[in-house]
Amino acid sequence: MSEKLELSEAEWREKLTPEQYRILREKGTERAFTGKYEKNKAAGEYHCAACGQLLFESDTKYDSGSGWPSFTAPAEGDSVEEHRDVTHGMIRTEVVCAKCESHLGHVFPDGPGETGLRYCINSASLDFEPED
Ligand SMILES: [Zn+2]
Repeated sequence: MSEKLELSEAEWREKLTPEQYRILREKGTERAFTGKYEKNKAAGEYHCAACGQLLFESDTKYDSGSGWPSFTAPAEGDSVEEHRDVTHGMIRTEVVCAKCESHLGHVFPDGPGETGLRYCINSASLDFEPED
């Protein structure tokens, strides 16, 4: 396991924009089709917007039509953790950053790839680094 990054709420507020804070630290969701990476098809890596940890790679990203960036699998290694989420009257699996435990989105069992999974992730939780 890589080392965890733990900051106080005040430090998170300083580090993140209000929109990022709402999503990453308060488990919010950006409105569908509004995120900056939903339509991004460029090759590269998606890192955690809060701590910089590598989370997803562009070769697993696909257009799910859901309105959020969607991936069939996380990046290899200690990238994300999954937690059972029973809020909002649904049983879902929450996806968080393995390093700083910021909320990223949810994973659903209706993906198109070999894994059968759809990682539905907020653009605001991601920081894209294009390949050179
Ligand atoms: Zn993180």
